[in-house]
Amino acid sequence: MSAPYALSSLKENLNRFPRVPLVHGPTPFYKLEALSEWLGGPSIYVKRDDLTGMAMGGNKSRKLEYILADARRAGADTILTWGGRQSNWCLQTAASSRMIGLDPVLVLFGLGDIERDGNLFLDTVLQADIRFVEGVKGKVIKPAEALEILNPIADQLRAQGRRPYVVPVGGSWLAGDMTKPLGAVAYVAAYAEMLAQADAAGIEVGHVVHATGSGGTQAGLVVGAKALAPHCKVTGVSVSDPAVSFSREVLTIAAQTDEFLELGLGIAAGDITVEDAHIGEGYGILNKATSEALQAVFMREGLVLDPVYTAKAMAGLIDFVRAGTLSSDKAVVFFHTGGTPALFPYRDQLLAFLS
Ligand SMILES: *Cc1c(COP(=O)(O)O)cnc(C)c1O
Repeated sequence: MSAPYALSSLKENLNRFPRVPLVHGPTPFYKLEALSEWLGGPSIYVKRDDLTGMAMGGNKSRKLEYILADARRAGADTILTWGGRQSNWCLQTAASSRMIGLDPVLVLFGLGDIERDGNLFLDTVLQADIRFVEGVKGKVIKPAEALEILNPIADQLRAQGRRPYVVPVGGSWLAGDMTKPLGAVAYVAAYAEMLAQADAAGIEVGHVVHATGSGGTQAGLVVGAKALAPHCKVTGVSVSDPAVSFSREVLTIAAQTDEFLELGLGIAAGDITVEDAHIGEGYGILNKATSEALQAVFMREGLVLDPVYTAKAMAGLIDFVRAGTLSSDKAVVFFHTGGTPALFPYRDQLLAFLS
């Protein structure tokens, strides 16, 4: 199968869009030698998007480069978004907004006592305007529901003479003021960046595995793969939603991205693979397999995963190798999407599973 696009022409396409520089890239790409040997399957490589550089890193910095450029274009002076109390997205948004002189307003969903730890600690240090709202255990709040709370806040801010730009959690869906799939566009570019590194290392990538949450990362990687390397399969390991409904959401974003970039790839349901065996009891709830995956990789590679996203994805990858579902003649790339600051607030849950 030859690729519809050359790397250089896709890059030219992507370079049309303005960005606020936030990412110190390209992020590292290398083989996880000890993990590959331990599992005895295909060679496993890691793409270190936990090392994007800003505010302890993660996939959201790539997305915000494009999204904040759009907010600037719209003349915004305030960024209004939502997430859970330990939202990596909210921290990344608050930090990058501050960097360019925009005021961050965060609506944080959660339950129980408020502990200023991890991401929430850093949000507080950044003096983000934080509004705490009651959440639902194990669930990510979707745009329709969240906007019922955010729209009145946006109205209040406007009444005070501010110019808010409302952006959905994760920067994936078209919602609020985000009318272009800019978060996913960032991950088309990330796929291209990874492919250039793989080419330089002389390896062929057969499979990409990563954590999927709001779907923009997966949508972008799928579009990138279909444009540049159609034999490469992308599997998103869901951290919250069942595969059937979530695949549809990823498909929507991927199709929007294909159209926005005028690639004409014709993304279809068969291009989207979401695996949902590692959700456990829901978003942000740890289980034994996830905790053990985090420990196993840390002990072998010195690589720190996070409890909410990347350790669940790694538990998935380990299962795929053990089940023999990944072919051994091509490399597997694990996208480490970040989440490091959320590790510490989970210390008690994690230690309970590891004792
Ligand atoms: C947000 C996030 C993801 C998921 O990315 P989406 O584009 O929302 O699917 C994965 N890993 C980490 C650490 C994240 O913060």
